[in-house]
Amino acid sequence: MKVIIHGGFFSESDQSHEVKTAKQESLKNIAKRAFEFLQSNPAFDTAAFAVSLLEDDELYNAGTGSQIQSDGIIRMSAAIMDGETQKLSGVINIQDVKNPVFVAKELMNEDDRVLGGSGAKKYAAAHGFENYSTEIPKRRQEYEEKLHNGGKGTVGCVVIDKNGKLAVATSTGGKGFEIPGRISDSATVAGNYANSFCAVSCTGVGEDIVSNATAAKIVTRVTDGMSLNEAFDKTFEELKLIDGFAGAIAIDKDGNLAHRDSHPTMVFASFDGENLETFH
Ligand code: ASP
Repeated sequence: MKVIIHGGFFSESDQSHEVKTAKQESLKNIAKRAFEFLQSNPAFDTAAFAVSLLEDDELYNAGTGSQIQSDGIIRMSAAIMDGETQKLSGVINIQDVKNPVFVAKELMNEDDRVLGGSGAKKYAAAHGFENYSTEIPKRRQEYEEKLHNGGKGTVGCVVIDKNGKLAVATSTGGKGFEIPGRISDSATVAGNYANSFCAVSCTGVGEDIVSNATAAKIVTRVTDGMSLNEAFDKTFEELKLIDGFAGAIAIDKDGNLAHRDSHPTMVFASFDGENLETFH
């Protein structure tokens, strides 16, 4: 059993010692709580649980604390994928729900598994998700000062459970200041992908992640016989060809963990019951 989580990138605007320490502590704490949850729950439920904890922490750009788009509105995206069934479900540009990842998880039971915009919100309301503002004063202030903080702050979680099943979930408030209607990578197979061989969650510039097909490519390479490290090497080499900005976390079916970023530093933590690793 292993859990690895990420909280996006440590951006220029939050390089202070306090923020760094707070992120390290938060990630370590959430990795441990997710691991505890994993003792009696499958990988799929654990990935959603861990991402919901990250969404609830204002330090990250997902759920509460999401960045504001150019028209002053927060729109969030999230997806979850079960490695065993190889099904992905997700929401794109959903407004006013506390935990987009739980709406994505709910959609796993439907024939129509990825919903966008007002349709996603209506579905959430009909399934008991209350109206909830995820705006925090810091983000409004950034928006009003027209500060494009550029912080890359998606969150994600990859899990392997006691039966060797893999799952991944990813959630984002987007890039900040984007044109309304812009689609993030997080609820696509480029940003969030799993099968029974490997599971990957990405963060970074969504356009680069989609152009590079990052998560789907890493998983496919591992499925076809490459080691996890080789798959990361090749995929991140290809990302250089488009000068791409991305980070990724992964676990393969043998329990190997990987994390990589094209531009330091993606913030992450992993826990296997003994070793608690985090970024420095
Ligand atoms: N990948 C996200 C997006 O482009 C942003 C991020 O990772 O911070 O929407």
